Amino acid sequence: MLLIDSHCHFDFEDFTSDRDAVWQRCRAVGVEQLIIPGVEVGQWESLAALVCREPGWHAAVGVHPWWISGLQQTDAQLQQALCECAEQGRFVAIGECGLDKLIETPFEHQLEVLRIHLTVAAELGLPVILHVRKAHSELLRLLKAFRLSRGGVIHAFSGDVELARRYWAMGFSLGIGGTISYPRAAKTRRAVVDLPLESLLLESDAPDMPLRGRQGERNSPEYLPVTAGLLAELRGVSAEEVAARTRENTRLLFSL
Ligand SMILES: [Zn+2]
Repeated sequence: MLLIDSHCHFDFEDFTSDRDAVWQRCRAVGVEQLIIPGVEVGQWESLAALVCREPGWHAAVGVHPWWISGLQQTDAQLQQALCECAEQGRFVAIGECGLDKLIETPFEHQLEVLRIHLTVAAELGLPVILHVRKAHSELLRLLKAFRLSRGGVIHAFSGDVELARRYWAMGFSLGIGGTISYPRAAKTRRAVVDLPLESLLLESDAPDMPLRGRQGERNSPEYLPVTAGLLAELRGVSAEEVAARTRENTRLLFSL
C-alpha cells in the first residue's frame, strides 16, 4: 500500500532531531511522498532547500493565516515574492493560505492576503492549499470570483456533506486527516462516506492534529496508514483501495 501525505509540516522544528528516522519509518509503511506547505516568508528558502534532499518531498509556498500578523511585506512585495518563489520549480502549489475567524488578525487583512495568493495561483496556474475555520461562506464567495483552473484542496476538512459538495463542485478536493478518528466528529465522518472517493486526499497535518489515542503527542506522517484504514472502514472498502485512489487524486491535483 503506497500513500501520499498531502499536508505535512515536515520542515517544522518538531522534526529536527529525528527527521531522517521518521522518514525511514514512513517509507517502511508505504508513505512515499509528502507535500510540505509554506507558512511564512522567512521559511520559504529553507523549505526549498529541504525538499531538494528527497525526490518524494514537495513544497508549497504561502503565508498561513496564523503568520499574517508577522508579515513585513507590502501587498505588491508579497505578490512578487510568491511568484518568484513558486517559479523555482520545486513548488507544486500555493499555500497554505486561507481564512480563520478564531484568531485575532483582522479578517479584512486576512482577505487581502488570501486574494494575493489566489491571484498568484491564477496567474501561474497552480493549485491552492486552503486553511479555513468558521469562514466558509466568505471563502466560497472568493473562490467563485477567482475560478482557479487547477482548483486545490480544503485542508483538514471538517463539516457536513453539503458544504463538502459545494467545494468539490468548484474543483476543490477535501483533505481528510485525524478528525475522522474522533466519534464526536459525526458530521465529518458521515461526509467522508457520502462523498465520491475522487474528491478525497489523505493528510496528517503533522506535527498537529493527532489521531484519537495519540492526543498530546507529536503527530507524524508515519501514521497515515491508520487514517487510510479508518476511511476504508467508514466507507466499507479496503484500505488498499482508499490508498490507491487518494494517492492518484493527490498526484493528479498537484501534478506529482
Ligand atoms: Zn497546515
